[in-house]
Amino acid sequence: MFNLFKKVLGKTNDAIKEVVEEKKKEISKEEFEDILLEADVNYELIERLLDALPAKINRLQAFNSLISVFQYKADWKESDAKPYVEMIIGVNGAGKTTTIAKLAYRYQQEGKGVILGAGDTFRAAAIEQLIRWADKLEVPIVSTRQGHDPSAVVYDTIEAAKARGLDRVIIDTAGRLHTQTNLSEELKKMIRVAGKAMEGAPHRKMLILDGTQGSSSVNQAKAFDEMIGIDGIIITKLDGTAKGGSVLSIADELQMPIFYIGTGEQPKDLIRFKANEYVNTILD
Ligand code: GDP
Repeated sequence: MFNLFKKVLGKTNDAIKEVVEEKKKEISKEEFEDILLEADVNYELIERLLDALPAKINRLQAFNSLISVFQYKADWKESDAKPYVEMIIGVNGAGKTTTIAKLAYRYQQEGKGVILGAGDTFRAAAIEQLIRWADKLEVPIVSTRQGHDPSAVVYDTIEAAKARGLDRVIIDTAGRLHTQTNLSEELKKMIRVAGKAMEGAPHRKMLILDGTQGSSSVNQAKAFDEMIGIDGIIITKLDGTAKGGSVLSIADELQMPIFYIGTGEQPKDLIRFKANEYVNTILD
């Protein structure tokens, strides 16, 4: 018994020692710069991070330097509302439809009852694509014909969720930025109507950003945030990039929570974003 205890304790001590040693390990600023360049972090941000550091640094300081980028104040709060209503926003092609399928799959895995609302009534293809995902995942969906009022979809989806006692409502929205004024009015109306169907809804407005698009993603995000106020983001297509340095640049520019990242085209390819894990991946 004692030996076993000693063995376990010994191991734990070793493991702790390893972590402490690792944290004390020195790295030069040049090495740190190379790591960030290799991860495709925006150069202006790299310079700013390096300028704030002393000449000699250790791994812990490098870690703290990167994690500081994620220390934003989040306005958004968790809520146990039922149904919990989420609106998915973003430009066409960013990955909205795919991400809705991923979220629905994730919530199903968590044992939650999900319903989708096909709120991008501007594109027939968007409605069809979402219906296909709903069939595949076997989740209910509320949809209407192309050109119909998306606010009606919002209202009906929330009503259906209440009637069936479902946990999550995920609503797609249009993403045609070239006719921005209309889109702005359309999204605002959808939000208003959601609030009429259920007080406090929508509970979360998540913006989908294509992680391979660099600064244009950031500009889109700012435009949407000004329009309707975004609670946080999901960054897609990070499977195509080396270490996803764009996440750091996006977080730095937007100072908003990153809820999830997308790493592929299948429903399982969605990871909850954790800043410390991400920073460790960059430094490894
Ligand atoms: P939407 O127009 O915003 O609804 O975008 P879609 O969901 O239709 O996605 C556009 C394209 O990007 C599709 O071909 C998706 O399969 C692809 N896509 C979406 N998310 C990811 C991702 O995380 N990784 C990769 N590799 N492809 C993605």
